[in-house]
Amino acid sequence: MQMIKMIKIGNLPPILALIVDKDTPYSICENCCAKKVYAHPRLLKADKDWCLDCEDQHYRGDMTDKELALWTKQKTDEGWAVMVVTQENVQGRDSL
Ligand SMILES: [Zn+2]
Repeated sequence: MQMIKMIKIGNLPPILALIVDKDTPYSICENCCAKKVYAHPRLLKADKDWCLDCEDQHYRGDMTDKELALWTKQKTDEGWAVMVVTQENVQGRDSL
């Protein structure tokens, strides 16, 4: 299962995320060789073989929190998912 969904985390504005579960196919990041890499046409990625943590570090590592928040909102407005969350985490957050 995988789908694009608007989610809310804490006090941040809602963002688009790719929701995955244990059955979603993935590969392992070729940069850190540890994290899972998911692929979806609407998941914003510069390097399809890298995990989002490595992408954030490499492409947005020197952004301030404010710049990152603006970037995230802009990409969400454009219809891009900018993070991956597991189904369990979404349900956990919804119940908060
Ligand atoms: Zn990685």
